[in-house]
Amino acid sequence: MSQNPRPPHVLIFPLPLQGPVNSTLKLAELLCLAHIDVTFLVTDHIHARLLRHSNIQTRFSSYPGFRIQTISDGLPEAHPRGDRFLELFDSLKSKTKPLFKEVLRCGGFSCVIADGILGFTCDVANEVRVPIFYIRTISAACLWVFFCIPKIIEAGEIPFEGDDLDILVKSVPGMERYLRRRDLPSFCRSGDLADPNIQLYKTESEENPRAYGLILNTFEELEGPILAEMRSMCPNIYTIGPLHAHLKAKLAAKATSPTAFSNSLWEEDRSCIAWLDSQPPKSVIYVSFGSLAVTTSNQLMEFWHGLVNSGQRFLWVIRPDSIAAKSWESEVPVELSKATKERGYIVGWTPQEEVLAHPSVGGFLTHSGWNSTLESIYEGVPMICWPYFIDQQVNSRLVEEAWKLGLDMKDTCDRSIIEKMVRSLMDVGKEKFLERADQMAKSAKRCLSNGGSSHNNFERLVEDIKSMSA
Ligand code: UDP
Repeated sequence: MSQNPRPPHVLIFPLPLQGPVNSTLKLAELLCLAHIDVTFLVTDHIHARLLRHSNIQTRFSSYPGFRIQTISDGLPEAHPRGDRFLELFDSLKSKTKPLFKEVLRCGGFSCVIADGILGFTCDVANEVRVPIFYIRTISAACLWVFFCIPKIIEAGEIPFEGDDLDILVKSVPGMERYLRRRDLPSFCRSGDLADPNIQLYKTESEENPRAYGLILNTFEELEGPILAEMRSMCPNIYTIGPLHAHLKAKLAAKATSPTAFSNSLWEEDRSCIAWLDSQPPKSVIYVSFGSLAVTTSNQLMEFWHGLVNSGQRFLWVIRPDSIAAKSWESEVPVELSKATKERGYIVGWTPQEEVLAHPSVGGFLTHSGWNSTLESIYEGVPMICWPYFIDQQVNSRLVEEAWKLGLDMKDTCDRSIIEKMVRSLMDVGKEKFLERADQMAKSAKRCLSNGGSSHNNFERLVEDIKSMSA
């Protein structure tokens, strides 16, 4: 009697932060749907938060090949991980690496998919002789800038002196026309080549080509010219994004409708959907700065005045830990509270994909995190970008200059500019932005359909994984 061969078994190891965990869980489910077993390796810290706030256990209960395994990040429980990235990276590299080696050695995995910024995973995988793919959950554009950091340094373009941030940067092939100093990842402004961030991201150019392949949450029609440049360094790239929509498309094709997905690390406040239901079509600007950005109480007030003065309706996420001052709530002027009651709604965390897909939402004031950007692009929602750090400075430039999908407000936080930009996006320039956003949303949908680039690249990834376990 012939036995069924065991399915391939992949170990996924994301960077332990909301954005990467979000997208890699979607990849995990896509692989489960393709009959590949997945072990999802997360730090204890992320695991506890997923158990507290997400419905990961019910969501994955229909996939017998899926399991979660935990690993220590080596930091004390009270450490503010997201706020002190470099300490998190150091700890992962020194404390988690040996534990990761044990997991890989004992697991019988066909291959690993690890976040490309965790360079030690490639050393371990090579040592244990398990093939490794890297995944990056940032834009190809930003990753390309990281790849080019050695060239930018060699050309003397960083560190730079003086305060003219509008000077064009010439040593990032394909972006010479529009990339300015101010659009470089935020740490490039430090003026010091020894800056640990510069050193960390510089190694990307050395690390990523070492893996068997590089999986990116983007799509060819959006970032084709940059991907062409990147392939000169890293030929085997799988563009399979936007991942959140890719998963929805695959589930729809299988006529499966599992429990709604919530992989949030915060408690979602669903009352905002009922509020959106009662607003006119495309009338609301959604405001959210993701899971990590922190604003001062001054910036909060500038946003608040700008939004109220624009006269537009707004849905605003103010995460409990996102304002640097503790007592800000008592400082909100009465007129702002009154106007907010009339045409605004504030929550601590939303089901964002659902919000962006809602017919009442007509614009997004965002920090330009890559997940948020892709979610907005997929739903055809134009953006105002207020980038906070790292990759977001690059993304926001592409939104305005390369893709014409919105306005870049980086390096200012002034109520009159906010008011003007909100009006421009939601009122005077509305038709133009919506038309362009609609075109891009259509091309995102095309790339996920049968024969589309992300669809085909995912099939290729599955075949490659299967060939590794044969
Ligand atoms: N998000 C959400 N609810 C919110 C705010 C954000 O579900 O109220 C999700 C959003 O959909 C996205 C992720 O959190 O998938 C944020 O990732 P992104 O890459 O945009 O930014 P980061 O948090 O990494 O800065």
